[in-house]
Amino acid sequence: TAKNAGRNRFSYFTAALQKASQKRSQLINDLRDALSTKQFVLHYQPIIKLANGAIQKAEVLLRWCHPKRGWISPAEFIPLAEESGIIIEIGNWVFREAVQEVKFLRATGHPEFQISINKSPIQFCSHSLFFQEWLPYLKQLDLPAECLIIEITEKLLLEMGEIGTSKLLALRDAGIQIAIDDFGTGYFSLSYFKKFDINFLKIDQSFVQNSVDCLNDMVLCEAIITLAHKLGLKVIAEGVETIEQHKLLSAAGCDYGQGHFFSQPVTADILRRM
Ligand code: C2E
Ligand code: MG
Ligand code: MG
Ligand code: MG
Repeated sequence: TAKNAGRNRFSYFTAALQKASQKRSQLINDLRDALSTKQFVLHYQPIIKLANGAIQKAEVLLRWCHPKRGWISPAEFIPLAEESGIIIEIGNWVFREAVQEVKFLRATGHPEFQISINKSPIQFCSHSLFFQEWLPYLKQLDLPAECLIIEITEKLLLEMGEIGTSKLLALRDAGIQIAIDDFGTGYFSLSYFKKFDINFLKIDQSFVQNSVDCLNDMVLCEAIITLAHKLGLKVIAEGVETIEQHKLLSAAGCDYGQGHFFSQPVTADILRRM
């Protein structure tokens, strides 16, 4: 009967929901072990200066090799790490690894190299003490704060309370640079330009990828670049995949590009060789 069919469908959905939630809590448990058993790896995606093709910076992208499930995308596990608070420990590990890499690159012929790190909102919350550890750590390695760029999304700026804001401003005062990630997709307020002394805008890949076929998106890219330059900021285009996109962005005066056209995210070894 229809009633029975309805009930069956209902129990099917409950079972599916239960399974999904079990999978989530299992993954959160696995995340707790992942750091101590060295399941995380950092990949680095070169950021290219469009004017001369030089690799001057790299974005750090976290990779998780799960013992049973293989590689899991950060899009899947970062939200779980945020929700469970584990992101704070992971974030500190990412920072230390990445800083050691930039130390190596600066010591081996690239004295101006910068490394760009992604940050989640929760990493700016009250019980995260990273800002007290970061600057001494850089000092210990004899690195200037300028070797580091922090990437934050527009959403993060919006959600960041007073404590988070003051932490970010303290890092900026110390010389660490700030990039707005996925620019154009969120809720950026022009007042942030005054509040946070931002160094870079990263144009979201959706605009970059449509720029060739869609006049509006190309005009948007150009407008972002013009606005940024008038305010003294540099622009990084994300997700550059084709030579046409590269040419358009160069012609529009974009400063840096990042994407599969130049290089996928690669291991530290490969980055060093590049
Ligand atoms: P994101 O910061 O916007 O990073 C750019 C994403 O675009 C990366 O995905 C990168 O692999 C991908 N990408 C690069 N070039 C191209 C291209 O030409 N075409 C296309 N279609 N994609 C390209 P990934 O590595 O999967 O990272 C996803 C997101 O996870 C990142 O977005 C970032 O928000 C977050 N994430 C990664 N590592 C960390 C981390 O260490 N900490 C935190 N809090 N978040 C992280
Ligand atoms: Mg990023
Ligand atoms: Mg991005
Ligand atoms: Mg993104």
